[in-house]
Amino acid sequence: MDAQHLARQMLARHSGRAEATAEVARTGPVTAAYEGRRSDLSDHPQIVAARDIRTRIQSDFIDRGLPNPLFLPHTGPNGATVGLLGRQMINFSGYNYLGLSGDPRVIAAVTEAAEVYGTSASAARAVAGEIPLYEDLERRLAAAYEVDAALVTPSGFLTNASIIPFILGQNDLAVCDSLVHSSIVSGTQWARCRKANFSHNDPDALDRLLNRSRSQFDRVMVILEGVYSMDGDIARLPEMIEVARRNDCLIMVDEAHSFGTLGDRGFGIREHFDLPGAAVDIWMGTLSKTLASCGGFLAGNADLIWAIKMLGPGLCMFVAPPTPPQVAAAIAAFDVMVAEPERLARLRENSRAALAAAKAAGWDTGSSEGTAIIPIILGATERAVLTSVGLLEAGINASAVAYPAVPEGDARIRLFMSADHTNDHVTQMMAALSQSDPR
Ligand code: PMP
Repeated sequence: MDAQHLARQMLARHSGRAEATAEVARTGPVTAAYEGRRSDLSDHPQIVAARDIRTRIQSDFIDRGLPNPLFLPHTGPNGATVGLLGRQMINFSGYNYLGLSGDPRVIAAVTEAAEVYGTSASAARAVAGEIPLYEDLERRLAAAYEVDAALVTPSGFLTNASIIPFILGQNDLAVCDSLVHSSIVSGTQWARCRKANFSHNDPDALDRLLNRSRSQFDRVMVILEGVYSMDGDIARLPEMIEVARRNDCLIMVDEAHSFGTLGDRGFGIREHFDLPGAAVDIWMGTLSKTLASCGGFLAGNADLIWAIKMLGPGLCMFVAPPTPPQVAAAIAAFDVMVAEPERLARLRENSRAALAAAKAAGWDTGSSEGTAIIPIILGATERAVLTSVGLLEAGINASAVAYPAVPEGDARIRLFMSADHTNDHVTQMMAALSQSDPR
């Protein structure tokens, strides 16, 4: 029996209709009647789930006279303070780590780029022709990672989601730290490769997993984050590299929260551990955190970056790059970061002070180790949400994060620190935290 015939039979069995069998046999599966067919979205599971969320926001917040904590409109840049609910609040909910989104030099660069190049690239780079801004940023990023080349991409999320399928396919395995970002999970799904997780930041667990499974796959890529976005701990990268290389694996590191926060010049985890650029195959990052813009980047050897530039859907091919003003913002932010290392020093002081204060007050800060991300782990979702609402009432914006972004039962308030926070901001936040916790 040939495969097409088998497919027709299976399809007919699935729809359970004799007419369908006849129809399928005659014309093929494309025109087969499918009993479960639907023509509108009103009962789509995602629409139903989102409707439930709206009902819960209405009953848990709005009906009780509390503000809807999601999509709160704000005024002014998302900095150490932000305008919310008609007042200026202390803010721990932005990735504006060095306070560069809103910096006058960054804004001036954006204005100039818009005047010179317009507000859009208006087509993919290969089609539209090149403007120097892209290469200016790529040269800086390649130098920061001590690699041959870099490529600026339109989105951080889509960079992960697109680069993993670019590298891995059906005979391959993605080996991920159990806490990697959802964009990496999407990338492994789009790649249709096999995926395995190892316990968070544990090189021995990685080694055990690779001992069991390496030989069954063609390519295996170990995927990590430089600083973990929910927990604020730093990858044990030198040990992970040793294990990965000994087991003949590729390595990719997502630098979303480590570029612009780690290293003397802010060049990320490579600089932090003083590693050669080639120690990792693919450095990935985003422009939306310290670089005060929007978009992503990849850095690595010249052949890899050229291949992605020529053949990478969603990375450079079939997609418009970030706009000239976005790239200009990232270049200006990069240059201020390098020219004013005191910003990084302040970010570190603030982060260490806030972590020490949280620990002294008895909060569970998980594995956070004084980077710009500090979780206050509270457990139940409701406790975290009510705490964040209490904080808002006290004039402090610090978001609650719950399942599925973190494991069930690990809901938390996640604090993002900024170079622009003051001691007083931290003291006020700690006092409000104790008062807002419903326990
Ligand atoms: N990777 C990590 C670790 C992230 O935290 C994020 C978003 N916060 C992304 C990738 C996606 O980046 P962007 O929001 O810039 O698209």
